[in-house]
Amino acid sequence: MTGFQSRTKRTQILVVGGGPVGAVAAYRLALAGIDTILVEALPDCPEDMRASTLHPPTLDMLEELGVIAELEQVGLRAPVYQYRNRRSGEVIEFDMSALADLTAHPYRLQCEQFKIARLLTAKLDALPHGQTLFNHRVLGFTQDDATVRVSIETPMAIETIVADYVIAADGANSTMRKWTGTSFEGFTYPERFLTLSTRYPLEKHFDGLAGVNYVADSNEWCVLLRVPEFWRVLVPTDESSSDRQLLSDANKNAVFDGLTGDGSAIETAHRTLYRVHQRVAQSFHHGRVMLVGDAAHLNNPLGGFGMNSGIHDAWNVTGKLVDIIRNGAEAQPLLARYDRQRRTIAHSFVQTQTIANKKLLESPVSKGRSEQEAQMFAVAGDAERRRAYLMRQSMFESLKQEAAIE
Ligand SMILES: Cc1cc2nc3c(=O)[nH]c(=O)nc-3n(C[C@H](O)[C@H](O)[C@H](O)COP(=O)(O)OP(=O)(O)OC[C@H]3O[C@@H](n4cnc5c(N)ncnc54)[C@H](O)[C@@H]3O)c2cc1C
Repeated sequence: MTGFQSRTKRTQILVVGGGPVGAVAAYRLALAGIDTILVEALPDCPEDMRASTLHPPTLDMLEELGVIAELEQVGLRAPVYQYRNRRSGEVIEFDMSALADLTAHPYRLQCEQFKIARLLTAKLDALPHGQTLFNHRVLGFTQDDATVRVSIETPMAIETIVADYVIAADGANSTMRKWTGTSFEGFTYPERFLTLSTRYPLEKHFDGLAGVNYVADSNEWCVLLRVPEFWRVLVPTDESSSDRQLLSDANKNAVFDGLTGDGSAIETAHRTLYRVHQRVAQSFHHGRVMLVGDAAHLNNPLGGFGMNSGIHDAWNVTGKLVDIIRNGAEAQPLLARYDRQRRTIAHSFVQTQTIANKKLLESPVSKGRSEQEAQMFAVAGDAERRRAYLMRQSMFESLKQEAAIE
């Protein structure tokens, strides 16, 4: 026989995309005894410099999956985060230990997203109801009242997987989203963000630096994040500069000159440029196909909400799919509720808060405090407002609001 061979597989759920969101969704379903296949286009979960913060409610979910101890071994607890004004030197500290009455994890876990995805895709493959297939790129799908037929390119063939339902977790450029035809409204920031990682001990240059620090400045705000092996620095870039200029030693030196006084002494392990969007799909529910994570919504990384809110999508939709498949609940009304709940939160919380977080970092004025900064100091100085702020930034509030949406 010549040409490609075509094979068809059958499963209850197909998850497209082996990022952290797809991995959580697939693992939870297979743990519940539902036949689940996860397909990932690449040969491994991509090791990039994106998400590194897990918020307390996400840690509670990962605890329920029984993987928290393994993640704690490869992550770093950050109970405190700081807002710093680069010019005035003023610091506001937020301590999540204040939420210990709500969670067994009153801290952020600084743990890169590839560690989460790798752990869960490997564990999925070891479950009797789970399978992880790398080098499987989805090309498109069709659906009818009973099933979804997904066409997949593998190194050897074009295959078809027929599933009862599909969770599309294939990221920002989602092929699945494009096939649904839904629009992806919002905007793209003109400036890109540059992330640099270094083993250099940045804490030597700042008094009491926390594991997570948002450093405000009208000229060059930045975020300083500690992960187990590195400090990561995130800065906005000049729109008119080329990739080559932005990734150059000269630019690296300029960024670190501002932080340590001598950028040329600092070696970096990674330098990565990201284009940043604020976008939400018009619908997360398309018959038997549900969009989750970056396939459904994109936001700037200030606050660490992208991956976390994606995992919260995965949690919501997998809970409903278990109810549908195991308990015979009526599917379409429940899946429509998934869309209402998570799309509302994407707009009312994730978009609103990340846009506000960016404005706060850009806001400092030459003398005194900007309006946003003044509000931040007022919040920090009032016990009730401070707790409400912590509830919001740690994402407990968004889950409470989601549960109240019918
Ligand atoms: C600089 C930066 C810092 C960030 N920091 C944070 C943070 O601290 N906390 C936070 O919560 N979020 C953060 N984010 C956002 C976070 O990285 C994303 O929200 C998160 O990766 C979304 O996960 P996902 O699984 O939905 O998508 P992805 O991680 O993009 O995974 C999608 C997967 O699908 C695969 N795929 C794509 N197309 C196909 C196809 N056709 N067939 C099969 N597979 C396919 C891809 O190869 C990929 O592995 C940050 C983002 C950036 C840029």
